[in-house]
Amino acid sequence: MTVEMDKIVSLCKRRGIIFQNSEIYGGIGNTWDYGPLGVELKRNVKEAWWDAVVYRRDDMEGLDAAILMNPTTWQASGHLESFTDPLVDCKKCKHRFRLDDIGGAACPDCGGELTEARSFNLMFKTFVGPVEEEAAVTYLRPETAQGIFVNFVNVQKMMRRKIPFGIAQIGKSFRNEITPGNFTFRTREFEQMEIEFFVKPGTDESWYEHWVDQRFRWYLDLGVNRDHLRLRTHEAHELAHYAKACVDVEYLFPMGWSELEGIANRGDYDLRRHAEYSRKDLSYFDEATKERYIPYVIEPSAGADRATLAILIDAYREEEVRGEKRTLLAIANRLAPIKIAVLPLLKNRADIVDLARKLAADLRSEGKTVYDDTASIGRLYRRQDEVGTPYCVTVDVQSLDDRQVTVRDRDSMRQVRIPLDGIREYLKKCLATGGLAE
Ligand code: ATP
Repeated sequence: MTVEMDKIVSLCKRRGIIFQNSEIYGGIGNTWDYGPLGVELKRNVKEAWWDAVVYRRDDMEGLDAAILMNPTTWQASGHLESFTDPLVDCKKCKHRFRLDDIGGAACPDCGGELTEARSFNLMFKTFVGPVEEEAAVTYLRPETAQGIFVNFVNVQKMMRRKIPFGIAQIGKSFRNEITPGNFTFRTREFEQMEIEFFVKPGTDESWYEHWVDQRFRWYLDLGVNRDHLRLRTHEAHELAHYAKACVDVEYLFPMGWSELEGIANRGDYDLRRHAEYSRKDLSYFDEATKERYIPYVIEPSAGADRATLAILIDAYREEEVRGEKRTLLAIANRLAPIKIAVLPLLKNRADIVDLARKLAADLRSEGKTVYDDTASIGRLYRRQDEVGTPYCVTVDVQSLDDRQVTVRDRDSMRQVRIPLDGIREYLKKCLATGGLAE
């Protein structure tokens, strides 16, 4: 099913997933806030990434580097010189466009004449210390990768790592993007999930294949539809001069196929440049073969916001159930913002409410559990379906006698009666396997 972005934006607002930033002041371009359910979803996406690339491997370390760095970093990385978009302005209406985005030679808004293209650096400039002078200029990082490169020797030596090994990091990056964003697809402030994997030159091509395969599989493992994912290999003219190869994992967003993640073979460019600018030795000595070399780097670079958006879009369903529209997020259990909702059938029966509240408290050890009695049961189910809660547990009059409750599965809407004394174990099993456990 293809879904329009407007439907996703509206669901996100209505259900506390994503809000416009500083909305009461009219907002600010390309900037969004994750609400109470959005923060859970994005955390789950980031945790799934960390689990796959750090915990499930024995050749990776984690890192959390600072956003502000010594400005020489950005000279060495090449960002000061070339992290630019060519921009043109309309001489008539003064609107500004990315040259890459407009097909013709005239202004797409008013048909006016355009200026010559000028380079516009995407880095946000800022000042450290109390004076706004040239010497105090630094930048908000436009990618997390450089924090990893400058710590390569620290991590390798202190953790006694041998090549091949990698470093993973999740963190905020900032780019002064000019084009409108397609919701959270392109924002000025975003979170990246980046890996720099250091290998011996000559082994880089097979490690590159390995990471392309691993990263593609990650999206499939999270339940993203295979037909909505593809790999797009960069043509030679798209590659940075130092890059040996690059492929994008793309998702079929409502606006068309667009990048979720890029995986690049960067050769020794980054470590060589940092060695040159810092005058420090960033080479590696292989004890076994007595060789010294600058490692090559394979870089899988993903966006937490783009992955979250793709997952939301992919999980969105509209169905007709007994003549009524049902909207649901058919999202993997591990990603669902709420795992269990406990709902009392009658909110004016103190004994039912009491039992339901106690049950919710007891189930919190299994993941985010909510109690809700603010509407009729039909409404409550619909609310939970819309935010992808896999299991609703209903407490009714009969529960007081037979000590059983009803568990409802989101996708199939099947219901089963489960004894209260085994409910926690039962839901644990359901959460781990998906659907209703036998
Ligand atoms: P694009 O071509 O879409 O601008 P890019 O090729 O410049 O992306 P990279 O520099 O390779 O992106 O960054 C790696 C990842 O970081 C991207 O695949 C994306 O998931 C994420 N990312 C980059 N820029 C943004 C942004 N402005 N908003 C949200 N995510 C972003």
